[in-house]
Amino acid sequence: MLKQLDRADIDHLLDSLHTAYRLQIPQQLPDGTRHLSPYTPTSVLSLSGEIVHRKPTSFFFPQVQKLVSIDPTGHARDLQKVEKPLALFGLNRADLMGIQFLDRFFLAAPADDIYLSLRQDALLIGLTGFSGPDKSFLPLSTGNCDIELVALAGHWLALGHSTIGKKLLDPYARGLNSELEELRQRDENSSGDLELLQQASHLLMNDLVPDSFWAEIAGRCILCSGCNMVCPTCSCFCVQDRCFEETTERSRVWDSCQFDAFMREASGHNPLGTEALRTRRRIHHKLAADIERWGEPGCVACGRCDRSCPTGIGMMAVAGEIVKRYGAGRR
Ligand code: SF4
Ligand code: SF4
Repeated sequence: MLKQLDRADIDHLLDSLHTAYRLQIPQQLPDGTRHLSPYTPTSVLSLSGEIVHRKPTSFFFPQVQKLVSIDPTGHARDLQKVEKPLALFGLNRADLMGIQFLDRFFLAAPADDIYLSLRQDALLIGLTGFSGPDKSFLPLSTGNCDIELVALAGHWLALGHSTIGKKLLDPYARGLNSELEELRQRDENSSGDLELLQQASHLLMNDLVPDSFWAEIAGRCILCSGCNMVCPTCSCFCVQDRCFEETTERSRVWDSCQFDAFMREASGHNPLGTEALRTRRRIHHKLAADIERWGEPGCVACGRCDRSCPTGIGMMAVAGEIVKRYGAGRR
């Protein structure tokens, strides 16, 4: 199903979604960053620009997530029920792939019921086409959302990928297939970052990256954990219990594989006892181990870790360095 929306149609769509969903839309802060924030009828929607700052997976797997609450008699209290499902508007291809990756992790049998409760009726709306910084071209999605809006000059093509997505697009006018085909051809040339990851991955899986490389990269890590905290596909967490006057709460809290204590055992033994091993793991896990386990890398090339790493050793930077030094075309 292909539809065409103009700006007024988008406002109409948002307004109708707002009644049934906790709708989050991209909005720009005064510092120029874009964030997914709650929709209100007066919100200013940002329809193009940099990737949204906060990783969208954090709506389903937040930094601190209560798992259980125990009252003084030892009984478990019901956790707060979700009133309305979430609707996330404005996700690019990388962020949709990030959600898909986390879905597979948390929803593999037996499904994680807390993640499921937030995710199961949620609506995902992609925003691709000419919606990047300065209206640059963003690759189309792989169909892993309910609705995809593809930005052109002055209007949007709208694809309904799921049953609910198709139903929501029912009221709007038909779009032109020829316009979509033109974009698909353009799309075939826009996978540069993913190709770089593939090359780095090939070198890692064939054991062509020496230990000395990891020692050198690790020497630049200041253990701030920023790379993990911003990554939409990182799923590691630790468990914390906290006692209050009336209750004891157990929560899960994001963890970081860059921390010394990440895998330290009670005996004191630490299988990832050096920074070099931990740094190798951060990259190797996503570019080699995830491919072995899931058939695809755990990095969706969103670029957040490269932006947040204060010492310039985010995923794309390290992958680029691996390919430059150990790839076929190395100098
Ligand atoms: S680019 Fe970095 S933050 Fe984004 S998915 Fe890959 S590893 Fe995670
Ligand atoms: S963001 Fe950079 S410096 Fe910080 S823990 Fe990650 S790799 Fe190390």
